[in-house]
Amino acid sequence: MHCPFCRHPDSRVIDSRTSDDGLSIRRRRQCPECGGRFSTTETASLMVIKRSGVLESFSREKVISGVRKACQGRPVTEADLAVLAQKVEEVIRQTGVSQLDTNEIGLAILGPLRELDEVAFLRFASVYQEFDSLEDFERAIGDLRADHTASAENHPDAVKADSADG
Ligand SMILES: [Zn+2]
Repeated sequence: MHCPFCRHPDSRVIDSRTSDDGLSIRRRRQCPECGGRFSTTETASLMVIKRSGVLESFSREKVISGVRKACQGRPVTEADLAVLAQKVEEVIRQTGVSQLDTNEIGLAILGPLRELDEVAFLRFASVYQEFDSLEDFERAIGDLRADHTASAENHPDAVKADSADG
């Protein structure tokens, strides 16, 4: 990293922090030659191995086009899809991998899609996880129901202490 002030070919990192979205690292640097300070933003490359074996850069657009069909007729906006794709990228980047296959992307999509729309989630999961019987759907729906029940039980309003009128 050349110093932008004196072109010195080396610099010292004095601070580095991950951006709020977790997608890049911002570093404060200081030039040992002139003392000038500057920042750099680094984004690690994320590669996807396609089924054909071809390597291509991860793209949020591909994630969106992959789930769009499952979201047809659902109350899901383009903005929702953009947020979903960003979440998927965050999930993947947090694992620290630099390469993954399309199957692993499908897996990373499931969580955020489930939060967004459960029907779209079921549609996507049925294709991605190759549901081939009603039992597969029943199991997936059963999981969703179980989570609904669990979150209802954790609701703080459900707990009310009896009033003591001593
Ligand atoms: Zn310098």
